[in-house]
Amino acid sequence: MKTMRKALFFGGGCLAVATALSMIATSQPSAAPQEAKHEWEIHDRNRPLPPVITPGTASTQERAGNPPSDAIVLFNGTDLSNWESVKGGPAKWKVGGGFFETAAQTGDIQTKQAFGDCQLHVEWAAPDPPHGEDQDRGNSGVFLHGLYEIQVLDSYKNVTYADGQAAAVYGQHPPLVNATRPPGQWQTYDIIFHGPRFEAGGKLLRPAYVTVIHNGVLVQDHVAPTGPTGHHVRPPYHPTPEKLPLRLQDHNHPVRYRNIWIRELAEGGK
Ligand code: MG
Repeated sequence: MKTMRKALFFGGGCLAVATALSMIATSQPSAAPQEAKHEWEIHDRNRPLPPVITPGTASTQERAGNPPSDAIVLFNGTDLSNWESVKGGPAKWKVGGGFFETAAQTGDIQTKQAFGDCQLHVEWAAPDPPHGEDQDRGNSGVFLHGLYEIQVLDSYKNVTYADGQAAAVYGQHPPLVNATRPPGQWQTYDIIFHGPRFEAGGKLLRPAYVTVIHNGVLVQDHVAPTGPTGHHVRPPYHPTPEKLPLRLQDHNHPVRYRNIWIRELAEGGK
């Protein structure tokens, strides 16, 4: 800690009693920071370089952007070949105009491929003009691992319960802010998801973790779901595989989706 002793002035004369910069030692010298043990030497040029990819481009309201070059594209605007109905058989949602749309009463759809920890990009738009209110307005959902719902809802000037609005971990964690755009406008979810881990005997080792960015705004900051999504219930975790399909919810509202891509993540980002 640095302290400066100021000169003192008396009457007409100037008596500098002390004018000095002093170093006042802290009572306890601070301990040298412990250097973390590391697999590699600092700036080690033998350390493998990260893969080079081509980043994507941002979407506009008029046009979907491009995914990064290492993403798995789940919907490119033309067909639902990467999806199936959770009831079995092909996905029956409507495709056209570069997007697909929930077809009421046809049921949820899920990816044919299963995914583990991931970065997920989804774009959606609520019906315009809006119909209904509360939960009955532009309702759908992105189910991570098919179990943990990030709510899709028209939450633009539409009040519902906090843990049920757009970008909520449904029934568990409200979003930090309501960043919802008006109905009819395209909105983005960028999600980072780490699935739960279980011991061999099925005991929960650690919960899932999810981070959500809604329209560029952080709304879920590494929160832990309490378990799979329920309605009026918070079920506990049950042992699940490390990879499961991604599911989208049919809530009988014609919600639109476009530009869906995913990047699987290795544990610890390695
Ligand atoms: Mg929903």
